[in-house]
Amino acid sequence: MSEQELGITESKAHNPGEWYAEVVQKAGLADYAPMGGFIVTRPRGYAIWERLKEHLDGWFKQTGVQNAYFPMFIPESYLEREKDIVEGFDPEVAWVTHGGHEELEERLAVRPTSESIITPFIAEWVRSYRDLPLRVNQWCSVVRWEATETKPFFRTKEFLWQEGHTAHATHEDAWEETMTRLHQYERLYEEVMAIPGMLGRKPEHDKFPGAHTTTTIEALMPDGKSVQAGTSHHLGTSFAEAFDITYTDEDENERIAHTTSWGLSWRALGALIMTHSDDQGLVLPPALAPTQVVVVPIWQAETEESVREYAADLAAELDEEFRAELDDRDERNPGFKFNEHELNGVPLRIEIGPNEVEDSEATLVHRPDGETESADREGIVGSVDEALETVYAKLYAAAEENLEENVREAHGRGEILGTIGQHGGYVKTGWCGDEDCEAVIKDEIAAEIVMLPLDTEEEPIHDTCGICGEDATETAYFAKSY
Ligand code: AMP
Repeated sequence: MSEQELGITESKAHNPGEWYAEVVQKAGLADYAPMGGFIVTRPRGYAIWERLKEHLDGWFKQTGVQNAYFPMFIPESYLEREKDIVEGFDPEVAWVTHGGHEELEERLAVRPTSESIITPFIAEWVRSYRDLPLRVNQWCSVVRWEATETKPFFRTKEFLWQEGHTAHATHEDAWEETMTRLHQYERLYEEVMAIPGMLGRKPEHDKFPGAHTTTTIEALMPDGKSVQAGTSHHLGTSFAEAFDITYTDEDENERIAHTTSWGLSWRALGALIMTHSDDQGLVLPPALAPTQVVVVPIWQAETEESVREYAADLAAELDEEFRAELDDRDERNPGFKFNEHELNGVPLRIEIGPNEVEDSEATLVHRPDGETESADREGIVGSVDEALETVYAKLYAAAEENLEENVREAHGRGEILGTIGQHGGYVKTGWCGDEDCEAVIKDEIAAEIVMLPLDTEEEPIHDTCGICGEDATETAYFAKSY
């Protein structure tokens, strides 16, 4: 890339949509595929996804989950066995009708989610209470022919995700599972991605088809829109009944199982880019950055040898502890290199010039804000470790501030519309539980109820519904969303 091509030209503050698309492409994360709504994930984008995956997969395995793999096609008759899932996904299913030139006897759905192909096998594997809980997860792609506008990672027709499916003896056990996975998603967002999340429940009309309860983690983007960042569903007994997951309990009684499913997709990557990146390009938390620290030597003819040697030695030492890189390319000047590493989101840059060599030091530059610090060459590993911690802390603090400042309370149609219109973010209000009241807001300003509090017993913040004025039963969080 030339110096000019390297720069992000759109502004995050003024044109977040165009800015996002530019960062995704210029930072080498993804390209648009020839079919609308599909993307090609490039190596840097995939490397970030792999790191997310490693963290989550590790926690799943520590908590009793095993990975498996099921076919990408689901026979139509299987999909039809749970009626809510057919109705819920019908408009978004892609169908295979032919194998070669032969028309198939039964159409095959390209999985939009895999309950209908996984649950019948769980039913075969579960015989007695001793087989429970049973937990499987698969990392795969699914296809949903989204009608609304697509956007790399946030909403694509084919997307990568994990889907976990479990069966339990009791309703309570399934609840515990649902919450364990929701908290693991929260941990991923907070500890790894430096994004605080809000946990809640989806309203009845927005639950996963067939679910007893859909829980969600929502993340607030700097442009004031919410992202449904991951969902964990308590499926109750609807899938167990449709696919016949029964087990014999300790007293030889036949019982119906309770199931859950939970999924997190590469939408997480979209949230990550949107939250932290800036007008210079990608900003990544250290845990996810393919390169965590880059050493850039800056020399004149007479200092070249000593500077290069010092920088190479430093980079080699750092590479033992971190994902470190030496950028001693001859053909690029330091300014170009700085821009490129900023664009690609390397969290920490170390500059080495003749002064650093003379003083046995290194100059550390933090990606998020350009803050510079001097560190002694001796003990550099400790200083870099601290600097990376600081980079994470800065990112988390900024995202946390955005969230804390953007949860507001409003009551009355005008006030709700005005508050979302002016500030974006979340608006809490009393709600009677009627979908029509949500529609009033949705029609005007395209904001919807993104969540309700997790605790169903929680008293609503207002006695009356913020829209119709009838008795309120819950607190609703309205927001525009991705
Ligand atoms: P669901 O099975 O509908 O609960 O979806 C699980 C998660 O996948 C959601 O919480 C979203 O974060 C994500 N997701 C849903 N649809 C898409 C899509 N079209 N592209 C990317 N991610 C998606």
